[in-house]
Amino acid sequence: MTSLTADAHVHSEWSWDAGSDPASVGTMDRICARAVRIGLPGIVFTEHLDLDDAWAVEVPSDIGTTAQAYVDERGRVRLPAFDVDGYLEAVDRCRHAYPEMRILTGVEFGQPHLWDAQAAALLGSGAIDRVNGSLHMLPFGDALRTEPTTLYHRTPADDVMWAYLDEIPRMAAGSDSFEVFTHIDFAVRSWPTWDAGPFDARRFEEGFRGAMRALAGSGRALEMNTRRLWPWIPQWWAEEGGRSVTFGSDAHDAETLAANFPEAMAMVESFGFRPGRRPEDFWTR
Ligand SMILES: [Zn+2]
Ligand SMILES: [Zn+2]
Repeated sequence: MTSLTADAHVHSEWSWDAGSDPASVGTMDRICARAVRIGLPGIVFTEHLDLDDAWAVEVPSDIGTTAQAYVDERGRVRLPAFDVDGYLEAVDRCRHAYPEMRILTGVEFGQPHLWDAQAAALLGSGAIDRVNGSLHMLPFGDALRTEPTTLYHRTPADDVMWAYLDEIPRMAAGSDSFEVFTHIDFAVRSWPTWDAGPFDARRFEEGFRGAMRALAGSGRALEMNTRRLWPWIPQWWAEEGGRSVTFGSDAHDAETLAANFPEAMAMVESFGFRPGRRPEDFWTR
């Protein structure tokens, strides 16, 4: 049996979209306990760092029940600040409780090209080992931003997908803070199959390849987000000059930790990527 690689995209109760549920208390500990049970050698707890303060929802049913807790009377999401100190203490407790496993600190930084300056103190403090950069939101109206899932209800699906892909090179060029680009298929998660039919990546191939070229050219790693496995992602990434990848389940609970990792590792290996020395090291080619 091949040993697992580190899960480099995991959320605990210190992420706003998990922590609004009272049942989430103790999630970090449960995740660590399960990691030991399944032989996962490392975890990076990449909690959400979302600094946008005017996220329009407008279609409240679009978002999960956890985010509903933060919707104000105008249909805007106002997120609580990331409790860095509480999070770091919790990581410290887990490092002592589970010494057999490597536990790294991290953030999933949303729209870093817009918020680098505001995050500089935290990210320059040395407390955060890994910065995943995520594009969750696109411009919406004059001053708001919102997620593709909302945009799909009011804009042709292809336009939303192109807007998402076109924003990625801007994010790569506009931020110094993130080293890994997460879930490049984020806008595919909410693709409106009811209206647009099944998602066909080949229709957007030039957009995905252009985004990958920009990320690879800036020396960044691409995350293989294992919620869905798409062979064209590591293939196009390698063809566009991508040198390194990480693996992330994007788990918000213990049950989905390292989901699909054996298949993802085999898939990435077939495109020439190999693990590093430590479990959390990027796989490179
Ligand atoms: Zn994300
Ligand atoms: Zn995430």
